Amino acid sequence: MAKRALITGVTGQDGSYLAELLLQQGYEVIGMVRRSSTVGFERIAHIQDDITIVGGDLLDQASLITMLSEFRPEEVYNLAAQSFVQTSWSQPVLTGETTALAVTRMLDAIRIVDPSIRFYQASSSEMFGKVLEVPQRETTPFYPRSPYGVAKVYGHWITVNYRESYGLHATSGILFNHESPRRGLEFAPRKISHGVARIKLGLDSELPMGNLDAQRDWGYAADYVRAMWLMLQRDTPTDYVIASGETHSVRELCQIAFSVADLDWEEHVRVDERFMRPAEVDLLVGDPARATEELGWKRDVDFPALVAMMVEADLALVRRQLS
Ligand code: NAP
Repeated sequence: MAKRALITGVTGQDGSYLAELLLQQGYEVIGMVRRSSTVGFERIAHIQDDITIVGGDLLDQASLITMLSEFRPEEVYNLAAQSFVQTSWSQPVLTGETTALAVTRMLDAIRIVDPSIRFYQASSSEMFGKVLEVPQRETTPFYPRSPYGVAKVYGHWITVNYRESYGLHATSGILFNHESPRRGLEFAPRKISHGVARIKLGLDSELPMGNLDAQRDWGYAADYVRAMWLMLQRDTPTDYVIASGETHSVRELCQIAFSVADLDWEEHVRVDERFMRPAEVDLLVGDPARATEELGWKRDVDFPALVAMMVEADLALVRRQLS
């Protein structure tokens, strides 16, 4: 019998890679999508016919209960969220509803419908914020620096709490930044790779950026969704940090990305105050030792290969759009 998994956020970057992985593993994949006046299935267009798409919204408890009752998944991956840190300052309440409280809605739906369902919560390195330890691991205290980070801390602790209160197989994956050619255009690495492509092909000359000194631990999304799946295959649920263990600055990312296209980043990148965060996260670097030891997880794609992959994909994309 094929296992059945429900993915919230299936139209997002991670949802699309996770759906691919689960289909390869022989799963029946149910993808929850919220109602929109336009259809935004670009990331899953190639596998759309293999997924059962179901309408639902993290803001609507009844839709979650109905979906679980109807489809009876064995695994639920809660990837949906208001996921962009900058937006969390302009829409803090929506961020709290979607990124924090919605985790309780889903956990409670699981508790009511079928407490044997295994649950994955998409937690974030942004919970470490103004870091209290370097590198950050599962035991590092949180100090979030944005409404997004605060909401993710809530999501993390309610996941732990439902595990401890009701014995749910609930896991919080604390994932450091992960990118791909499918990343949203507003996130710095994709903004840079897409900006490089547009400059290379003569559409723009400048790339306005925020803090070039911010340091992040970046990996490839397809490697990171594999860790999500591995976490739910464990008999005993616990929480895992997924990271590369390396940190790089935004400046370094710019240098590499522009050099892939034979451009000098200093001729094009301009610092623009509008893209600065009100409260910055200066340095993130994770320690994935527990995941390596217990899950056997390791990344396949390193930082320079990731940046090159993204720039090359955006060059191809912009060329297609021009032709
Ligand atoms: P993403 O590309 O922004 O995707 C977010 C998804 O959530 C989209 O499918 C979106 O649907 C959906 N969504 C938003 N609000 C919803 C609602 N009210 N009801 C139902 N669906 C809703 O994010 P991602 O990069 O794939 O990240 C996946 C998860 O991992 C997120 O929770 C994110 O916060 C977390 N995370 C990401 C990273 C990273 O580096 N990527 C790191 C740590 C944690 P629409 O298509 O309709 O907008």
